[in-house]
Amino acid sequence: MLPVIALVGRPNVGKSTLFNRLTRTRDALVADFPGLTRDRKYGQANYEGYEFIVVDTGGIDGSEEGIETEMAEQSLLAIEEADIVLFLVDARAGMTVADQAIAQHLRKQQKNCFVVANKTDGIDADSNCAEFYQLALGDVQQIAAAHGRGVTQLLELTLQPIIAELTAQDEELEHDDEDIAELYLEGEEVEDGKTGFEDKPVKLAIIGRPNVGKSTLTNRILGEDRVIVYDMPGTTRDSIYIPMTRNDKEYVLIDTAGVRKRKKVSDVVEKFSVIKTLQAIEDANVVLLVVDAREGISDQDLSLLGFALNAGRSLVIAVNKWDGLDDYVKERIKTELDRRLGFVDFARLHFISALHGTGVGHLFESIDEAYESATKRVSTAMLRRIMDMAQADHQPPLVRGRRVKLKYAHAGGYNPPRIVIHGNMVHELPDSYKRYLMNYYRKALNVMGTPIKIEFREGD
Ligand code: GDP
Ligand code: GDP
Repeated sequence: MLPVIALVGRPNVGKSTLFNRLTRTRDALVADFPGLTRDRKYGQANYEGYEFIVVDTGGIDGSEEGIETEMAEQSLLAIEEADIVLFLVDARAGMTVADQAIAQHLRKQQKNCFVVANKTDGIDADSNCAEFYQLALGDVQQIAAAHGRGVTQLLELTLQPIIAELTAQDEELEHDDEDIAELYLEGEEVEDGKTGFEDKPVKLAIIGRPNVGKSTLTNRILGEDRVIVYDMPGTTRDSIYIPMTRNDKEYVLIDTAGVRKRKKVSDVVEKFSVIKTLQAIEDANVVLLVVDAREGISDQDLSLLGFALNAGRSLVIAVNKWDGLDDYVKERIKTELDRRLGFVDFARLHFISALHGTGVGHLFESIDEAYESATKRVSTAMLRRIMDMAQADHQPPLVRGRRVKLKYAHAGGYNPPRIVIHGNMVHELPDSYKRYLMNYYRKALNVMGTPIKIEFREGD
């Protein structure tokens, strides 16, 4: 699971400045889902190769009637979902009543919480920050988000314990993905086309915006009588894992829709949690994105797809509520989908009606195909042969009068499939040629439903 850091604090203390510094802003996912009124931004960040999620909770100014209820609605959710809470205060403005109200709330939470005094540039930071110890939340970390000062130290302090835990878990595994990829590098031949995890259940995450039909689809897949609604303690961001068998194959359904209900979770949360969705994508083998035919693809769908793509997940897209639409409308929807989904054209689209069950069975053909594609073992010999064929059919271009030359290919791993190509001036290859190669490999290997990553290395 990706660690989650939430930024809380009153408006203007520098939360979005810190958010932007920590994340690649273009990936930020802005939550404006029904029922979630405040702006909350979600972004991916990276500290020394460890991915984590940052949530900017939006401002709480403390003047709201009963900060308790107000926080309970929105920021409380973010706090509850977070592993780490960074409580930002303004070192220049000093402590305010709102800061104290927020602190009072945070003290009641059993959370890993850090007071972070921002805007410490150009002032006597130590004396300005002293009063924040009264918040009774421990040490006060000094930063200047606008200048990046103290930010790395802050991450180190807050993330180190989590990273240590993650590393310990990794060490328990006998073989990780890198070891398995090494097999190719050592020239150990593999049987072409054999998929890796045929004996493990496929983890399938069903994701999508509220009301697109995830619960209806989940019920449909599980069979109405199999869905037992029962109370389970747990935090909001944990999805429920439901094992199931279909055509003698085993799956674990990652239910983000809350078909199986939990105790003590508010309605909004039950309905939709961005963190829960991001975690489900991270943990899945195959992501099934459900969209509502009548609503089309929203910016949030694109952000979720971007996240799935970034994580290298296999993907199937179900366009739901395909019932009761006339042909003209269907054509229009299809054109619009083609236009917006070009960047994930490896994913199969299914037009279904979860309500009537139409097309639901066929989804599993694509889910299986995507999973098999992602875990398919391919020998070095095969990868080289395909590279040579691609190069013979369509030469790489000349760059400054010299021809880019591809020399050698081998596998770099799977899930998603990674292919490493060595050659001369490969870093000069235009994107169009990289796309050509990727599509060539996709066709030759008969890989659908998963992204393929090609890495280029200079030299032999
Ligand atoms: P938010 O409302 O908490 O998201 O706050 P913003 O990130 O929008 O920042 C509020 C204001 O504080 C902006 O004008 C920022 O430029 C300024 N600011 C943010 N970080 C720093 C800092 O480290 N030093 C100084 N001097 N100003 C900062
Ligand atoms: P979730 O929030 O994504 O879990 O969505 P739900 O499964 O709760 O469905 C939201 C609404 O859409 C409900 O009223 C469903 O009956 C309706 N719905 C779900 N699937 C379909 C479908 O295939 N066709 C139509 N017409 N309505 C559907």
